[in-house]
Amino acid sequence: MKFLLQDVRMETSFLTENNFTYGTATKNVTIAVENGIITDIFEKNHAINSSGYTIVNGQNALILPQLREMHIHFDKSKLGLPWSPIEPAKNRVERFTKEFSYLEKAPLDFSNRMKNLINLELDSGVTHFRSHIDIHPLVGQRYLEAAQEVLINYQDKLDYELVAFPQHGLILSNAYGEMKNALQNGANLVGGVDPISIDNNLEQSLNQTFNLATEFDVPIDYHLHERGDAARKAFNKIVTLTEETKWQDKVTISHAYGLRDLDSMERAELLSRLADNQITIISSIPLNFVIPPLTELKKAGVKTLIGCDNIYDCWSPFGNGDVIDKLNRYAEIFDLTSQKDLTESLELVTGKKIITPSGWLKIGMPASFTLVNASSTAEFVARKVPVAASYFKGNKVK
Ligand SMILES: [Zn+2]
Repeated sequence: MKFLLQDVRMETSFLTENNFTYGTATKNVTIAVENGIITDIFEKNHAINSSGYTIVNGQNALILPQLREMHIHFDKSKLGLPWSPIEPAKNRVERFTKEFSYLEKAPLDFSNRMKNLINLELDSGVTHFRSHIDIHPLVGQRYLEAAQEVLINYQDKLDYELVAFPQHGLILSNAYGEMKNALQNGANLVGGVDPISIDNNLEQSLNQTFNLATEFDVPIDYHLHERGDAARKAFNKIVTLTEETKWQDKVTISHAYGLRDLDSMERAELLSRLADNQITIISSIPLNFVIPPLTELKKAGVKTLIGCDNIYDCWSPFGNGDVIDKLNRYAEIFDLTSQKDLTESLELVTGKKIITPSGWLKIGMPASFTLVNASSTAEFVARKVPVAASYFKGNKVK
């Protein structure tokens, strides 16, 4: 299928007067798409031979990169089930024990709950997902296989990464063998959770995590909720193992609450080690004072990204599946109110810089992008302008 997407706007630069950046300049373009790839980008008034192309009217929308959900749990969704609040639990171990029996007995099957979650996010414009999937001896490969089955139906709508996640503790639940199976069965990343407060064995837990990563040559995305001294030890061990295994640019730490507990000198030192080793921090923008210092991380050169994480599951009754809502919350918490700061913030859900000398949109890229009826990225983020359309590899998804 070949089509020309006409009349869309691309931001090219910031508009500044008397040192005040009040907006962005845009240029009107037509994009040619063939077999899911952007094959040409024409500026306005350029003569185009449109024979053989379907014409799509972009209606002067702003074109932005694909929106990405970088932290979600396909297997934990309660969407579609009757309302139930969160059961009390003394700690994470009690929480996931109760969660497992709840999910096993849930009166709506895995695949329908997962579809409800995916559809919710597709509707807000997301077309890339990184999902953690619980792997432990009680569940074996069942959740992974069920998730892969559902994803077959979404091939033309989204791409994804699946993280084998030993939610019940790699050591505590003796999950190493099942984790190996999961990586053999197509999981794309190794996950992990709290080597001290869950596994109670910092060395063994993290050594095994890195062993799995190097053996299967996959990246790591590690849930780290540790606080205080446990956090200090865990960060140090993760960075040291990254250096030893040369796993630079292949390690993510999700949550990283403990960054808040380090004094400024110690934090600066750790941040520069995270940057040197290209370790990414992913946050779900919590409101309970444990949010990592994301703007400080960014300033130190550490890559930061955002994910929704829990959306109506056994861990949280909240969440609407809209990454722009999370991004808006991030901007408000960190007081990012300028045109430039708001524009740059979009990188946390796209992984791409919007305004660059050569532009983010390139010939040869997959035709996966977002259309918004906003004057600029800054307005999109600050005003939470609804996504008008999303395309994945040339297919219109929303
Ligand atoms: Zn999570």
